[in-house]
Formats: sequence, C-alpha cells, structure tokens
Amino acid sequence: MDNKLKLAGIKDWGFKTSSPLIIAGPCSAETEEQVMETVMALAKQNVQMIRAGIWKPRTRPNSFEGVGFIGLQWLKKAGKEAGLPVCVEVANAKHALDALKLGIEALWIGARTTVNPFAVQEIADALQGVDVPVMIKNPVNTDLELWIGAIERINKAGITKIAAIHRGFSSYEKTKYRNKPHWEIPIELKRRIPELPLICDPSHICGSTDYLLSVSQTAIDLNYDGLIIESHINPKKALSDAKQQLTPEELGELLSKIIYRRVSSDDAKFLSRLEDFRDKIDHLDETLVNMLADRMDVSREIGKYKKEKNITIFQPGRWDEIVRNREKQGTEKKLTVEFVRQLFEIIHQESIHHQNKVMNS
Ligand code: PEP
Ligand code: MN
Repeated sequence: MDNKLKLAGIKDWGFKTSSPLIIAGPCSAETEEQVMETVMALAKQNVQMIRAGIWKPRTRPNSFEGVGFIGLQWLKKAGKEAGLPVCVEVANAKHALDALKLGIEALWIGARTTVNPFAVQEIADALQGVDVPVMIKNPVNTDLELWIGAIERINKAGITKIAAIHRGFSSYEKTKYRNKPHWEIPIELKRRIPELPLICDPSHICGSTDYLLSVSQTAIDLNYDGLIIESHINPKKALSDAKQQLTPEELGELLSKIIYRRVSSDDAKFLSRLEDFRDKIDHLDETLVNMLADRMDVSREIGKYKKEKNITIFQPGRWDEIVRNREKQGTEKKLTVEFVRQLFEIIHQESIHHQNKVMNS
C-alpha cells in the first residue's frame, strides 16, 4: 500500500534549497517587529525557509494561542523582505485556505492534528489540486500507522511535495527529552517509504537548548533531509516554548558545528573494509539468533518440567534476579541499562510465550 505514494523530492519543491533543508523561525509569530527582526537575522544564517506558528495548539488553556490571520501577513512580508519562503502550521481547512490565500509557500501539520484522521482529511480536501509542500509531523503517540495514514491522506489529495517531520513522542514518564525521539520509528518510516523526505525537529524533541546539537547531529548522521529549529530574536521573552528557542546567532553557531559526512564512497579500500565489518555483524547476528533459539529450547524444557510439577510459569523473584544480574553484566560491558532491560523484557515475553504453549498444549 505504501509504495502507491507519488512523491517529489525537496529539490523539486520550487525553492532555492540545498541539502539538508534548514527551516528556522520562532515557535509563534508574536508581533510584526518580532517576526521581521527574527527573519532578517535568520536570513544572515544558513537558513532556507522560515517557520512560525500563527494558530497555536496548546496543551492547557490560558496559554498564548497565536495571533491568527494577521500573523500570516507579517510572515509573508518578512519572508519577501528576506527573500525566503515561509511555512506555517495548519490544523483545519480554514487555516489551510487562509495560508494559501496569502501565498504562504509551505504548510505543516502539527503533532496534535496528525493524530486526528478527520482533521487531516479536512485539510487534504481543502488542498485538493494545489501542490503546495506539506510537512507532516509525527503524531504525539508512537503510532507509525497513524503517521503514514496522514501522509497517505495528503498524498491522495494530489499533493506530491510531502515531507515527514520527526518531532519526538510524548510519554508519561519524565525523560531528559520533552518528547522522546524513538529513532526507530522514523527509521522504519523511511524503510517503508524510502522516497519520503524526512526532517528532524530537534526543538520539540529536546524542549530545551541543551541537546539540540546532539539531536541535530544524530539526524544528519541518519541521512535526514532537513532540520526545523525554533529561533526567536529574544528567546527569554518568547510567548511559547521559550526554553527551547535559540537566537538567530546561536542557531548559526549550532549549524556551523554540525559535521556532515558522505552518504557513501567508491573508494575500494574503504568498501572492502566496510564489507569485512558487515560480515562480522552478519556472523554475530547469526550467533545471536542461534543462541536465542537455544534459550527458548531451555524455556520449553522448563515449561515441561513445571507442567509435570504443576508450578506457575511466572516466578517474580526469579525474574527480578535475572533483570538485576543482566543489567549489571550489561553495564560492565558498556551497554546502557535501558537497552539491557528492554532486551530482556522481550526475551522474557518470548520465553513466557514458549512455556505457555508447552504447558497448555
Ligand atoms: C510547533 O512546531 O511549534 C508545534 C506546536 O509543534 P508540535 O506540533 O510538534 O507540538
Ligand atoms: Mn513550538
């Protein structure tokens, strides 16, 4: 189903872009002066498109909810002055039509809208036949199908200029990120739709300026096609997302620190050494699969034995001992605690599944 998408690359969006595409601008348009000053300062950095929120979906009421329609005019004017295309978030058909009316060059669909197929369909219907670039943020929850569904809806309206924006996923637990990146999800999206451009939004992943560079670098190392980063002329005074915004100068500094690596090489020596490493990985993976299969054999043996003795499958004390031990062994070998825990959780699940089959057959 995924391969039915008809997509254009970013270089065919009709703007002067280079790779990666750098989009920057304030979380929200607040005043005409703030927009103009921010945009003019960003034009001096390596920025190719301007972003700003005009209608702001806020988690709690009584927060600043955006300036509305007038902001489109400020943004358009500033973009013209700076010679840069501009993009805004649209959350319904009216937003989309207003943005088109003012000649806003690109649109994005926010995380809280991607979760809602009705809202996405309404926007798709409003855009029918207008091939304006639409960037679609991941839904707030870790649901790849919902993200793909939104991309399909927009594509079915005849829009080929689509990109996915990875802005991280919210979780109940507190982590160092505002929205956990879950890199495996955009990687799987790219595996399923290889021709879909992928843009990273480090600002909403981080929620602060602390890890912006490392998240941006990871995205570039994963061959993302662009970055969208929040920048405000005076971040401390920002009416939304103050903690995560950089000044245009700070943004320029961050961009200059990113290391760009080549995607591939035709150097024979490099390729042959890479091949050796990959052989090693293939061999280790095969050993891993065989070891896991052996482990499940033992689980089935245990299952048979427990059945004979009429003992339950799950023994919390034993499981706790395994987790503690493996975490200790893993960290001694420089693996992260989180990885070891998750790995053994799924091994344990599979093990229970095998025992269950033996005991209830
Ligand atoms: C934004 O880009 O300012 C925004 C509201 O982002 P998200 O939809 O990712 O929360
Ligand atoms: Mn924001």
